[in-house]
Amino acid sequence: MKLVDIGGNLTNKAFKDDRRDVVARAGAGGVASVIVTGTTVPASVHAREIAMEPWPIEIRSTAGIHPHHASSYGPLARRSLAELGRTREVVAMGECGLDYNRNFSTPAAQRAAFEAQLELAREIGKPVFLHERDAHEDFVEILARHRHALAGAVVHCFTGTRAELERYLELDLHIGLTGWICDERRGKHLVDLVPRIPADRLMIETDAPYLLPRSMPGRPRSGRNEPAFLTHVLRAVAQGRGEPEEDVARATTATARRFFGLTPERDSGCPRPYRGHGARQ
Ligand SMILES: [Zn+2]
Repeated sequence: MKLVDIGGNLTNKAFKDDRRDVVARAGAGGVASVIVTGTTVPASVHAREIAMEPWPIEIRSTAGIHPHHASSYGPLARRSLAELGRTREVVAMGECGLDYNRNFSTPAAQRAAFEAQLELAREIGKPVFLHERDAHEDFVEILARHRHALAGAVVHCFTGTRAELERYLELDLHIGLTGWICDERRGKHLVDLVPRIPADRLMIETDAPYLLPRSMPGRPRSGRNEPAFLTHVLRAVAQGRGEPEEDVARATTATARRFFGLTPERDSGCPRPYRGHGARQ
């Protein structure tokens, strides 16, 4: 099995002490690639640094500012994200979007930062990794104006309704599903919706260290999720679609590789050559 975890927050301090072990377990668990999410400028720099290290599996990153941190977007941030976006390790711009659930940044600041990052992604020609929560209408309104010029767009951690899913598919978006679908309380509707997502639009992710799959036996007491647990998301998605896990694994991996321009086939145990990472300690 070769899976792609399209959203792993490996910059998170939860992985500070054992990132190597976490990635090794991911590889042993069938994960061939992890895309490390960038949520602020410093986190995006860090995510790329991680992607530059030698690993037994493929690690790539995104560069963007999460809506929670939208108020930190400005000309300096733009310049940093543009530089990162033009590097080989960064395969998508984001995470960006709108989150009116908690409004850590004002909705106006979120809309401005979102639109600016879509413009940047257009300029750079890389796809966008999107976050939307409780902001569907504004999100679609902004995105629709840029969609035609974007290389690609994935709504990560989709948890919405059937109508929202259909609107996203009409906009030719890709859909990322997390362990939310493994939660029999709040993710049940996703099990019903998952067959409606075309195979060439569907990708899977852990959003680790968040969203530990509830259906997972022997859940770690720390509550920390990690990319190795992607198989539990795969299982729930396959059950919801009524398809064999191997088929869903093959399809989601092919979709992710195409979407992010990842290495087509990569056997584990064959790390790419170490290229150093500058002055970082
Ligand atoms: Zn998110």
